Amino acid sequence: MQTMDSFNFANKKAFVRVDFNVPLDDNFNITDDTRIRAAVPTLKKILKDGGSVIIGSHLGRPKGVTDKFSLKHILPRVSELLEVDVKFAEDCIGETTEAMVAALHPGEALLLENLRFYAEEEGKPRGLAADATEEVAAAKKALKESQKEFTKKLATYADVYVNDAFGTAHRAHASTALIADHFDSDHKLFGYLLQNEITAVEKVMKDTEKPFTAIMGGSKVSTKIEIIKNLLDKVDNLILAGGMTYTFAKAFGGKIGNSIVEDDKLDLARELVELAKEKGVNLVLATDTKIADSFSNDAKTDFASVKNIPDGWEGLDIGPESEKLFTEVIKNSKTILWNGPVGVFEFDNFAKGSLAVSNAIVEATKNGAFSLVGGGDSVACVNKFGHADQVSYVSTGGGALLEMIEGKVLPGIKAIRGY
Ligand code: AMP
Repeated sequence: MQTMDSFNFANKKAFVRVDFNVPLDDNFNITDDTRIRAAVPTLKKILKDGGSVIIGSHLGRPKGVTDKFSLKHILPRVSELLEVDVKFAEDCIGETTEAMVAALHPGEALLLENLRFYAEEEGKPRGLAADATEEVAAAKKALKESQKEFTKKLATYADVYVNDAFGTAHRAHASTALIADHFDSDHKLFGYLLQNEITAVEKVMKDTEKPFTAIMGGSKVSTKIEIIKNLLDKVDNLILAGGMTYTFAKAFGGKIGNSIVEDDKLDLARELVELAKEKGVNLVLATDTKIADSFSNDAKTDFASVKNIPDGWEGLDIGPESEKLFTEVIKNSKTILWNGPVGVFEFDNFAKGSLAVSNAIVEATKNGAFSLVGGGDSVACVNKFGHADQVSYVSTGGGALLEMIEGKVLPGIKAIRGY
């Protein structure tokens, strides 16, 4: 299989699918350009080789052509970061765009307008009733056909297809997966970012050095069930923390006051504890908690056992005993996966537990452990604590990362390497 380093892009046109789905403010200023910067090494390498790039991305969730979601808003920043004057195609398909593509010279870059302006990109019909009428079925079928045409058109732009969009690798969309069928195995490859993400996840989930500890936090257990179940087959230690703590505490007879709880998941909590026992996994739950008399940074606070929270109070962070417990386990690990804060870290008064976890991961990493932090809020945590460059890898993917941890094969990855 070709890689970014083995492929010589000289005089080749590359279609590069990136994830430039960046947040914009009301004046269309980019408020966080991380995703653009993440794709720069791939794009620059192609240009430096003497190739040209046709850059495809989505922005937001448009239901058709919408100025708000136009990629023209980010064009100046892309040009600045790539250090070339990037051209812009106001439509991702059509004759004008084809002519612009044909006129591209080595070292030049063309940014296509938002691929999701066409329903064909996602292959999901828009504005149809949800019921399974014949009309709906016919519209879906017609869209599948026009999606094939759309995909083929995008593919004709280039000699080689590069996917560097980890954020959408779990989607079987035209430009993220289907397009790859139009290129032979020597002319489709992962960009640096996507390759790095795959390598990091596989280091954790496949070539795991033991002991392996996963720390799962966040607000609810219900959104993490599949991940927890898959992890139970792989980890030595599973730290379950954050809001789900109280569902577990209640499931075993605890008094949890006003803490966040999923009453319909009490059986599940008991089942997961049993499953961990069966599989010989050391399941670590918080024992004490920092409680608050309201959901606010300025609330009155105290500490309590997770099983004995007074009425009118709620647990918003782990307590000192749990910090010690978690730290000890993390420090003795060789592989670490962290997804989800262990408390309401957005409030400074309830961020201490997440900081302790982050500190322990940094220390373990210094001592040779491989640590992967990913999935939304834990990334915000390591950024807040200034630890992003002191862990082994910070993933850029939300849903894509979680699906990989669930053990799913991602369409965007399979389309290129076959598995
Ligand atoms: P998730 O998106 O499921 O990973 O959840 C992340 C959110 O969980 C963060 O915004 C945290 O503030 C929140 N969270 C963590 N611990 C608690 C808790 N004890 N009570 C309420 N929310 C929590």
